[in-house]
Amino acid sequence: NMALPNKPKGEILAVVDPEIVEHDIDVLIVGGGMAACGTAFEIKKWAPADLKIMLVDKAALERSGAVAQGLSAINTYIGENKIEDYVKMVRNDLMGVVREDLIYDCGRHVDESVKLFEEWGLPVWKKDAAGDNLDGSKPAASLREGGTPVRTGKWQIMINGESYKPIVAEPAATALGADNILERVFIVKLLLDKNKPNQIAGAAGFSTRDNTVHIFRCKAAMVACGGAVNIFRPRSTGEGKGRAWYPVWNAGSTYTMCAQVGATLTMIENRFTPARFKDGYGPVGAWFLLFKAKVANGLGEYYAMGDSAKEELAQFMPYGASPVTPTCLRNHLMIKELKEGRGPIYMATDVALNAFLDERKEAGLDDKSLKKFWKHLESEAWEDFLDMSVGQAGLWAGMNIEPEKVGSEIMPTEPYMLGSHSGCCGIWTSGPDEAWVPEVANESRSHKYKWGYNRMTTVDGLFTAGDGVGASGHKFSSGSHAEGRIAAKQMVKFCRDNDFTPELMQTPQEIADEIYAPVRLYNEHVGASTAADVNPNYCKPAGLMMRLMKATDEYGGGVATYYMTSGKLLNICLDLLLLLREDADKMAAGDLHELLRCWENYHRIWCVETHIRHIEFRKESRYPGFYYRSDFPNVDDENWKCFVNSTFNPETKEWLCEKVECLNIIETEP
Ligand code: FAD
Repeated sequence: NMALPNKPKGEILAVVDPEIVEHDIDVLIVGGGMAACGTAFEIKKWAPADLKIMLVDKAALERSGAVAQGLSAINTYIGENKIEDYVKMVRNDLMGVVREDLIYDCGRHVDESVKLFEEWGLPVWKKDAAGDNLDGSKPAASLREGGTPVRTGKWQIMINGESYKPIVAEPAATALGADNILERVFIVKLLLDKNKPNQIAGAAGFSTRDNTVHIFRCKAAMVACGGAVNIFRPRSTGEGKGRAWYPVWNAGSTYTMCAQVGATLTMIENRFTPARFKDGYGPVGAWFLLFKAKVANGLGEYYAMGDSAKEELAQFMPYGASPVTPTCLRNHLMIKELKEGRGPIYMATDVALNAFLDERKEAGLDDKSLKKFWKHLESEAWEDFLDMSVGQAGLWAGMNIEPEKVGSEIMPTEPYMLGSHSGCCGIWTSGPDEAWVPEVANESRSHKYKWGYNRMTTVDGLFTAGDGVGASGHKFSSGSHAEGRIAAKQMVKFCRDNDFTPELMQTPQEIADEIYAPVRLYNEHVGASTAADVNPNYCKPAGLMMRLMKATDEYGGGVATYYMTSGKLLNICLDLLLLLREDADKMAAGDLHELLRCWENYHRIWCVETHIRHIEFRKESRYPGFYYRSDFPNVDDENWKCFVNSTFNPETKEWLCEKVECLNIIETEP
């Protein structure tokens, strides 16, 4: 092995024979985001003292995952609302096809996570006795003591959340202990047991900081690696390509790794195509909800409000007529404006801010108070970005945008795959073992709603949470944490109930050889040309990623076609992805960063393939505004108000895609 310098300059070179470290544990937590932190914090409360638990994060726990930059609102807090109403809201926003048992279960646990966050030091905005807003800087009764949070919408509460992730990560890290946390280790694959069919037995990955392959043997695993970014060509170009709405860490590992060991996926055809401030991808929630801003087209018309919008939405009944228009349909209205040449679309920030000022003027506020109020409003507008999307504040400053004077452009972005925000793709899991969760007369777990351990996938011992759990979006940061906590308790139960010694199918050396194959390929052939990036014997991950993005963008309903695709295009896309998968074997890595990129690509290709397969299978357009099928342009409740579940058989390598009944648990009226 090549000796590494203590303080390497630039990328760390990869060697052909990495060190192999084996870990024998009981529970493995893969990922370090909101769900994983929830699991880590909760599991110690239930685990016997001798249960060995480890957490492995690809990045650094303190700032990893979607909450890395911070957030300015917690989007799920039930508070004074009814949990049933939360279920109805999610069902409506996700066009009717959701797991109501999972959503209800999340709803009844989520507030406890928020109360914990506050106890750990997260400033939550409150109202004082007079009903005025306190922005977290002044003392007020805590949520647990009955303090009233400042709501932006029915479900959202405001926070001063730049340090949200460190605040949530610390108790998780303390619970497990530093020796049980491995950072900057990328998990590449899950491993099934050699003797027990359909039982998880471990996982393997590599360090991005030294040449080490880590192999874990475990009885239960939580896989909470978030969703998938950079699977479609981003709108950003050149150097800006690294800027996306979704966090760059999450490369579809959750869906790919679970699918590869045979876990059933659900609603993986769903995607989230957020409309965000153009180029900086800044959040729009506070503008819509807190500042009550409206969107206008290039002609200055509030296109989402009039009769023509109603008429347009009437194509997608019953969802088009719901009191709160589903997110995808709001996108649909925007896309229509753009396609018909009435762009650009503006968030009327100027109108919204000045309306507040006029309101205060009418209420008779004196000049000094008006000035103070204006300053406060202005700083809130900027703080919303500074709390969670610093780049957007930079862009506004760089473009001389003064939100109180001019509107700011918004745009539908490229699509992402996720299961905890306003999307619901993911993995089919068991719901809670409660009498109100329906029994289904089908022996296959892929059709059942419960099979013993809450949030366990169809593979024994394999759990997921947050973006991982499918058909139950709108959990957001708090719900993902709560779901991690729910699963934690069940994982302990699973370990107590199932005493076995995990045994792997492959030897540690075979696993290391597979993980380091791109390094070997590079070293074998690097001399064949004068440029390390151009070689007749291998390709570099950057090039492969561009091919992936081109295929999905042009054939899979990316921005190139305004999210339009068809059966014909999808099948071309699938062919291209299969070719890409073959060519992925020729990816070469000269350093550890590139090795990471190779495996990220591999995870992306797999997970976007599942996405395309599902869109092809579902012969309708369930989410107009997120994607469209030109051959089946409508929402077809009669034939497709059902889940699409798919299972990869790790032995035969075949995919099974099937319709699964979607059952109503909560009464149906809005
Ligand atoms: P994440 O928190 O993203 O965590 C994923 C973890 O997996 C990370 O630690 C990552 O490093 C790790 N990982 C990935 N791959 C691997 C691998 N192969 N091996 C090991 N580790 C791996 N929620 C709100 O409540 N309010 C908001 O305002 C809000 N705004 C949002 C804005 C954006 C841009 C996004 C993307 C999300 C927002 N959310 C918001 C939602 C919230 O952030 C997510 O719901 C939540 O973070 C999901 O939790 P998770 O644990 O599933 O994934």
